[in-house]
Amino acid sequence: MNDRVVLHGIGVSSGTAHGLAVRITPAAGVDTNEPACTDVEADGQRVRDAFSQVAEGLAARAEKAPEASKAILTATAGLARDKALVKGVDKQLKKGMGVTAAVHEAVEVYAGKLRKIGGYMAERVTDLYDIRDRTIARLRGLPEPGVPELSEPAVLVAHDLAPAETATLNPETVLGIVTAAGGPTSHTAILAAQLGIPAAVQVVGVEEHLEEDTHIALDGGVGEVIVNPTETDTQELEERSRRRARALAGSSGEGSTRDGHKVKLLANIGTADDARKAATFDLEGSGLFRTEFLFLDRDSAPTVEEQVETYTQVLEAFGDRRVVVRTIDAGADKPLSFANLGEEENPALGRRGIRLTQAKEELLDDQLEALALAHRKTNAELWVMAPMVATVDEAKWFASKARGYGLPKVGIMVETPAAAIRSRQVLSIVDFASIGTNDLSQYTMAADRMQGELAHLLTPWQPAVLSMIKETCNGGSKTGKYIGVCGEAAGDPLLALVLVGLGVSSLSMAPKKVNAVRAALRLHDMSTCQQMAAYALDSWTAEDAREAALNVADPVMKDLL
Ligand code: PEP
Ligand code: MG
Repeated sequence: MNDRVVLHGIGVSSGTAHGLAVRITPAAGVDTNEPACTDVEADGQRVRDAFSQVAEGLAARAEKAPEASKAILTATAGLARDKALVKGVDKQLKKGMGVTAAVHEAVEVYAGKLRKIGGYMAERVTDLYDIRDRTIARLRGLPEPGVPELSEPAVLVAHDLAPAETATLNPETVLGIVTAAGGPTSHTAILAAQLGIPAAVQVVGVEEHLEEDTHIALDGGVGEVIVNPTETDTQELEERSRRRARALAGSSGEGSTRDGHKVKLLANIGTADDARKAATFDLEGSGLFRTEFLFLDRDSAPTVEEQVETYTQVLEAFGDRRVVVRTIDAGADKPLSFANLGEEENPALGRRGIRLTQAKEELLDDQLEALALAHRKTNAELWVMAPMVATVDEAKWFASKARGYGLPKVGIMVETPAAAIRSRQVLSIVDFASIGTNDLSQYTMAADRMQGELAHLLTPWQPAVLSMIKETCNGGSKTGKYIGVCGEAAGDPLLALVLVGLGVSSLSMAPKKVNAVRAALRLHDMSTCQQMAAYALDSWTAEDAREAALNVADPVMKDLL
């Protein structure tokens, strides 16, 4: 029996899981000890075979993949069959290069050509590198890199995961996700919560403990991971689940505090499929539709017609419930190949969000037109907001455009300290604001949200972040405008109470988090929420702020966290 090891990370998607740990394999790279080529024909055949195995593997995965990733997998499989690529390899073999080095070099040459052509072709370079890594792994007799195909449900363990990789995971076979790196507000963590897969990030050292057939247990609520759990461990994990279920029992209906102060409980979604799933939950609509998630895999901008179709599906899914759509927020860790403005030194501080659509205005125009058409078709309760607003001018630019298309309710996200500090002025332009605590924490604390090691700075319990939220709510009450929260903070049941105490009227989160937040609200009066908020604001550290709120809270809250 292998050693039992308990590790602590950050829980980012609640729920418990245990099962076989499956590693996400890193790329192997060129074999530095391989022999030089002496038989071009034989080596060429080996490489051809490896390419076709890779192509077949990808095509088979495309068959089973969700609709959004089918096209990309099929296109990548096509690249692995490209004749020019094979010829390029022969050329390198003739120079005497070993097989893996020849593949590496041929791919580099080919990638250079694609980059030169630019546009769509240049965007295929990432796929080409994927082919390279898979082919080299085959030639070396190693497993192909990336998320393996799972024959039985398992817990995935990786150093880190890209949002695009996470988006393609199947919650039916992926029991849980554990990463050694990654941050709690990274888009990977957000996607895991969206998919309802229990997940913990920043579980430092987890990879070193994995061997063949290692079992692993995970509590995605508190971020605890046990490698080689005992039977008692898994029983204790199940007991935690039961306690939580008891605390959640009977959580239903509209969100409100115990004394009847209404708080709308909404879902964060990224696709029409998410909308259909979220709409089956007991919640009051969607407070954040991250529209850029629709386009992460795409090589070209979607047409107005395509967008109308998707937005109509989303609005219809929610019927007469509110849907807050965020216009495209590309850039930083969500690059869109068709909205690329070139390399940037600091993408998170660069032309992302509204700044990108100011440079590529047609993207926003198409989107607003499509939203207006979908609204006309459905007459749904549609609210539209822009991401990453920092100035009154940006708010004006967006509001006049959106109103020009006849959109009824126009708002902004408060994600920058600039917008929070000047919320009275910015809010006077628009109808509402939604606080994006993920980016607001990143920019208030000057800490990259992708940098898991900075999680202690990124927590929205940081008093400086709470002050920013308070400032935003002050602006809201002075202008009589509505303030919601749609960052990950909204889904933390204890923090949700503080947010309500600060003056927030709606909370939007992964649908699976709604029950716990609703149960937490029902346990407390508005005056208790306000007291928690005052204590948290008065605290000097993030830990003290959380502790202060927990001290005032009902003891059952411990089972909800
Ligand atoms: C946020 O920043 O809090 C937010 C909701 O937007 P995103 O996480 O998509 O950047
Ligand atoms: Mg954001």
